[in-house]
Amino acid sequence: MKNVRLSVYPPEGSVKMTVPLFTGDGAIHSAIVSRLAWIRRQQERFRTQARQTKREMVNGETIYWLGRRYRLNVVESPRASYVLQERIGYIDLYCRKDAGAERRESILYEWYRSRLKMMVPGLLATWEPVIGVHAEDWGIKRMKTRWGTCSPAAKRIWLNLELAKKSPHCIEYVLVHELVHLLEPSHNARFTALMTRFMPLWTHYRSELNQAPLADEDWKY
Ligand SMILES: [Zn+2]
Repeated sequence: MKNVRLSVYPPEGSVKMTVPLFTGDGAIHSAIVSRLAWIRRQQERFRTQARQTKREMVNGETIYWLGRRYRLNVVESPRASYVLQERIGYIDLYCRKDAGAERRESILYEWYRSRLKMMVPGLLATWEPVIGVHAEDWGIKRMKTRWGTCSPAAKRIWLNLELAKKSPHCIEYVLVHELVHLLEPSHNARFTALMTRFMPLWTHYRSELNQAPLADEDWKY
């Protein structure tokens, strides 16, 4: 590196700084201080954007499914509530006239859940023999701070329902990550080595997963 570079990343406004190899602490400190106002402005921009993406679940809104963008189309339906994804670029959500944003969102999330539940058994059948483990139980639930969890003692894994918005290889990465925890519970060097053996590109999938969030909350993994 020849220059000092500062970058601010969504969603939390974390700051990354790259500096030439032999830069002293004092120079680093003054570089940060001199750009503090700029850093704060970027962070404020992310916070404002996060507020604006609050779901209203109205026609034309952007909906994510398996890493792709769709336009939401709300259709009034006197009886059943359901979701159809059969038109290119659209997700059709059928609901009662009086269904508000929250109800519409829960209809969408139930659809996400049922579709993910159809995908997971195939992924487990693919990966369990490769990794040499077997998950006794698995489930899908909404989680605030984790893409997945694993309880090695019970051999149970949980996947975050929000993963429905992510591309299939990101979902696969989280599943592999949790299965590898059945071999190694902590994120130590052995865990990293196992991940690299089974899924050489896992760090790429992880960074894709943690790029600008598709959900309204902040995510860590
Ligand atoms: Zn983990």
